Amino acid sequence: MFIGHYAVGFAAKKWAPKTSLAVLFGAAIWLDIVWPIFVMLGLERFLVAPGITRMSPFDFIDYPLSHSLVMAVAWGIGFGLIYLLTENDTKTALILGGLVVSHWFLDLIVHRPDLPIFPSEMNVTGVVHKYGFGLWNFPGWELLIEFGLFAAGVWIYAKSTKESKPWGNLGLAGLVFFLAAFFIASLKMTVPNNTNGLVFFGQLLTIIFLFLGYWVDDNRKSV
Ligand SMILES: [Zn+2]
Repeated sequence: MFIGHYAVGFAAKKWAPKTSLAVLFGAAIWLDIVWPIFVMLGLERFLVAPGITRMSPFDFIDYPLSHSLVMAVAWGIGFGLIYLLTENDTKTALILGGLVVSHWFLDLIVHRPDLPIFPSEMNVTGVVHKYGFGLWNFPGWELLIEFGLFAAGVWIYAKSTKESKPWGNLGLAGLVFFLAAFFIASLKMTVPNNTNGLVFFGQLLTIIFLFLGYWVDDNRKSV
């Protein structure tokens, strides 16, 4: 899931009107922000394995700290608490925490069964249970759901905000186009077999999207 995460960030603006789109995006993709860091530190592992699913060539061997359900909830509580302590706004803190956790459930729809519940692989029976409905193997359904989510999220954002500076509308259109175009391009791309390079490039792109989210939102105001 890629633009589906941005979709829930867009949509959340309606219920968190004072919060920048960059912060809403940041919460929705938080697990994918910490994941490259853990990969680079050697704490989490993935491989490029073309054909492992029809849409995504990544074999997420081990990512318990960023992508286990228990850790997703922990990150969500942490994210919400920091917001609560700095902004003293319980409702928005809950929304942000919910956005962080939503990531796991959106990933659950598309990933192979590679998402763990617990951050530790150890359990009593020695069997590790991992989950994922594998919609990346059903591109038609995947694209329908992901673009459906994206369209709904953007629509809610566009309805709950309006242009307040000259670039408000064009900037939003550009951001939407850039996200959708990158998503489509990523499906066609031959992915190089360089995991550190990939996470570095991914993180750079995330920073650009967050900055664009900040900038677009700064050119619009809630209605
Ligand atoms: Zn993810």
